[in-house]
Amino acid sequence: MAFKIIASQCTQCGACEFECPSGAIKFKGESYVVELQKCTECEGAFDTQQCASVCPVPKTCVPA
Ligand code: SF4
Ligand code: SF4
Repeated sequence: MAFKIIASQCTQCGACEFECPSGAIKFKGESYVVELQKCTECEGAFDTQQCASVCPVPKTCVPA
């Protein structure tokens, strides 16, 4: 399992990129995307998914 970013809702604030413990979030082309193979859902690092926690837009970082 992994999380993904709903590109149409993302404001491109960049907050999630720095909080991801797996380095799975990158700005690619025109939007922030999660590299699904790298996403660990923050397991072992945090109790909650950091991208979803810091994202100012509700339901933008969601299970893929
Ligand atoms: S769930 Fe965690 S590991 Fe996956 S993209 Fe979000 S912050 Fe990174
Ligand atoms: S924190 Fe949310 S709004 Fe900001 S870049 Fe990440 S997905 Fe987009």
